[in-house]
Amino acid sequence: MNKYIIGLDLGGTKIAAGAVDTRGKVIKKITLPTEARRGKKIILKNILAAASKVWLPGVKAVGVAMAGQCDFKNGVFVSGPNFPKNFKNIKIGKFLKENFRVPVYLDNDARTFTLAEAIFGAGRGFKNIIGITLGTGIGGGIVINGQLIRGKNNTAGELGHMTLDISSPYRCSCGRFGHFEALASGTALENFYKKLSGKFLPGPEIAKNILAKDKNAKQAVAQLGKFLGLGLANLAQLLDPDLIVIGGGLSNTPALWPAALQEFKKGVIYKSLKNTKIVRAKLKDDAGIIGAALLPDIRY
Ligand SMILES: [Zn+2]
Repeated sequence: MNKYIIGLDLGGTKIAAGAVDTRGKVIKKITLPTEARRGKKIILKNILAAASKVWLPGVKAVGVAMAGQCDFKNGVFVSGPNFPKNFKNIKIGKFLKENFRVPVYLDNDARTFTLAEAIFGAGRGFKNIIGITLGTGIGGGIVINGQLIRGKNNTAGELGHMTLDISSPYRCSCGRFGHFEALASGTALENFYKKLSGKFLPGPEIAKNILAKDKNAKQAVAQLGKFLGLGLANLAQLLDPDLIVIGGGLSNTPALWPAALQEFKKGVIYKSLKNTKIVRAKLKDDAGIIGAALLPDIRY
């Protein structure tokens, strides 16, 4: 009998659920609203409904990807920006295990993004991969020899909190200053633009304004690209990876890349590192489901 894994990509607005085979193919999928504002009971009910609707005979495990802090060892969602304040320390693993009687694995969605890209996306065929999600914040993951690196207390790869500029006035979501996330995320782009122009514009608008020859937009993106390149250089210097794969909405801003790659090449000291492959994510719509389904280590 075929083996399947249920992948759940659990966001604040919607739950994407899919039954995935061991080759990473999504066999059956569904999207349901999370209804996060209606509280814990309803959220859990919706998670259960989503998983039930895609369930197939032969399901061996469930993997859950969520934005925010996750306790992988215990299957607990600690907290995250897309859920109500009281949706904290939720034992999602235990809840699903009790209902479905299969092992359940839960982890951060930047990690599952990296895993999906490493196994079935841009990183296919490579061993050592760093994944970065560039959105409102910056998430990350590190895959070495096909395995996610979790560290001693499951915080490895939280690269958004590397300090790039200790004297920076820009504050990170964690409250500290000058972190990678504070200087190279969508939020950073908005802050740079506001400082230059005195006006607030959402990140995607700033990216669009470059085409309309808005000088401030151009400068803000160039500034961001520099910090992005610097952050990437630090990562390459640390791990000498085969590939750095970048996803998230902000990565689709073409004007970002010339400055970022220039700074990257300046930032690393070895010639070999200058040639590190830096690519955009390859997987599209089902990446969230596939990444979650890779958490239980049942592959190939
Ligand atoms: Zn931080």
